[in-house]
Amino acid sequence: MTGVPPGARVFCIGRNYADHAKELNNPVPAAPVVFMKPAACLVPPGEPLRFPPHGEDLQHEVEIVVRVGDGGADITEDEALDRLDAITVGFDLTLRDVQQRLKAKGLPWEQAKAFEGAAPLGEFVPIDRVDPVDLRFHCDIGGERRQSGHTADMLFPIPRLVAHLSAIWTLAPGDLIYTGTPAGVGPVRPGDRLVAAAEGIGEFAWDVLGR
Ligand code: ZN
Repeated sequence: MTGVPPGARVFCIGRNYADHAKELNNPVPAAPVVFMKPAACLVPPGEPLRFPPHGEDLQHEVEIVVRVGDGGADITEDEALDRLDAITVGFDLTLRDVQQRLKAKGLPWEQAKAFEGAAPLGEFVPIDRVDPVDLRFHCDIGGERRQSGHTADMLFPIPRLVAHLSAIWTLAPGDLIYTGTPAGVGPVRPGDRLVAAAEGIGEFAWDVLGR
């Protein structure tokens, strides 16, 4: 995908908004919940999305996504925003029925979160064009407003996420961070149009194919 080098990692943060953790009956975490998707899951705007064949309850999670510029290890919160170079909005698509089954058994989430097409992603803008910790974003599914978020409501703000991740992984140019979703997640159906938008960044759309 344009702007994402081969080998880039896609870090995803779970339960980063208290209202979303609550709607799924998850505890508010004491540290960021981290999982990953392969970069092969990314889908640029306008490309069709296939409904995954192995689940029924496909759900949208609209999220602000940042891209690592300089990167490095052990980045402090103070220097974190300077190590990012671009920002956009995208979807962390999730097969909720599959995820609930896996969670109940304590099994990994890949089948629910890392299927083909699971990461529709908008076009990047330079991160200095917006204030990443004071940013409104939303999604419309099938013409209906489903989620509205504000990055100031993150339990772990973007600088904290960069510090947390870079204490474990040496962040490399082009790595991405999906920063978590606010409340309002819900079903995506075959034929739906998914629209993700953020102020100062843009609006991006994908159509889900029939089954
Ligand atoms: Zn998510």
